Amino acid sequence: MSYEHVRELLKEMKLDGISLTLDSTFEEWSKSGKDATELIEELLEAEKKSLKAKKYDVALRYSGFPFHKHLDEFDFTFQPSIDVKKIKELKTLRFMYEKENVIFLGPPGVGKTHLAVGLGMEGIKEGKKVYFINSITLVDKLKKSFYERSFEKQMRFYKALDLLIIDELGYLPLDSEGAKLFFELISEKYEQGSVIVTSNRSFNEWNKIFEDEVIATAVLDRLLHHSTIINIRGKSYRLREKQKSGMIRLDTSKIIDENAQN
Ligand code: ADP
Ligand code: MG
Repeated sequence: MSYEHVRELLKEMKLDGISLTLDSTFEEWSKSGKDATELIEELLEAEKKSLKAKKYDVALRYSGFPFHKHLDEFDFTFQPSIDVKKIKELKTLRFMYEKENVIFLGPPGVGKTHLAVGLGMEGIKEGKKVYFINSITLVDKLKKSFYERSFEKQMRFYKALDLLIIDELGYLPLDSEGAKLFFELISEKYEQGSVIVTSNRSFNEWNKIFEDEVIATAVLDRLLHHSTIINIRGKSYRLREKQKSGMIRLDTSKIIDENAQN
């Protein structure tokens, strides 16, 4: 069998991991005096690594993340109200195995979405099914599927996820139909899979989001039963960056601090 033929077969079978490492692995192996099994083992390991990387890339593409940022890109010294121990514990992904929830609360720009995405990326690295969606888009999709009689199918998709991240709950209130469908989704996920919610509204304001106290209480009841709450009280990182670049000259920190008290 010729070298060319080996190359053709690798290409045909899309064995990119072996393709990329073949020459160097073979060269080292021939000098080492090791037996053929070890050569095969090394090539297969390279293929396994490459498959894992491909799977990670595909999962990231389908995750719906608005950006790809890791937890270690987060500057915790800028946000001292965050208990780093809690984030480290979440990073172990135990919450995902236990099907528990995480709620990030705080004013705009404090890093809620970043931390949610960071945890989601850790999950994907572990091969977990993770999906990120904005709350308004989510409710629109639920409503649409309800009218198009594909609600069950849509629910099956969300139910199959290990982690569903619902971003920006509370920027806009939900109408009564949206609130009911949202509640149905949260009930389906309860103790079946993890949910991360980010919101700029404190829990006692959730009545305003759902415009119905009974539904708000029922949603909170299920979300909070097994959950970690990260309440971020601090300044906006976005504004800090703008201030640094001179786009904003005012000292806005006082205004933001006051907002964070609400
Ligand atoms: P929120 O969702 O709370 O409005 P984001 O998570 O979207 O805030 O953060 C806004 C931007 O600032 C993002 O690009 C995010 O990566 C960045 N950012 C926020 N907080 C930090 C931080 N403490 N360290 C590093 N980057 C941060
Ligand atoms: Mg956000």
